[in-house]
Amino acid sequence: MSDMRTRWRTYAACLEVHPDDMFPDPRNQAGNRRAKQVCRRCPVWQLCLNDALTEEGGKRQENRHGIRGGLTSDERYLLHHRTRVQGQKAAV
Ligand code: SF4
Repeated sequence: MSDMRTRWRTYAACLEVHPDDMFPDPRNQAGNRRAKQVCRRCPVWQLCLNDALTEEGGKRQENRHGIRGGLTSDERYLLHHRTRVQGQKAAV
């Protein structure tokens, strides 16, 4: 039985490329750009990004890997913390 929470993955554009292509070395700018181009044509990028942010949560920056939802691990780290700070400001 398929899990409804992960069913979106069957529509992922990255299924058409080699898995390694979505995990370039963070310093490899050309590799990161190529992976992001795959995400740009992905119909489920928003679900993917939500999943990544939920799964990674407050993980340390070095424990986030690959391009997910069109963002690098560094970009997701910043987005997570920016969103958290905005949530804290809204609660005040
Ligand atoms: S957004 Fe990118 S990493 Fe996420 S499923 Fe789509 S192609 Fe794969």
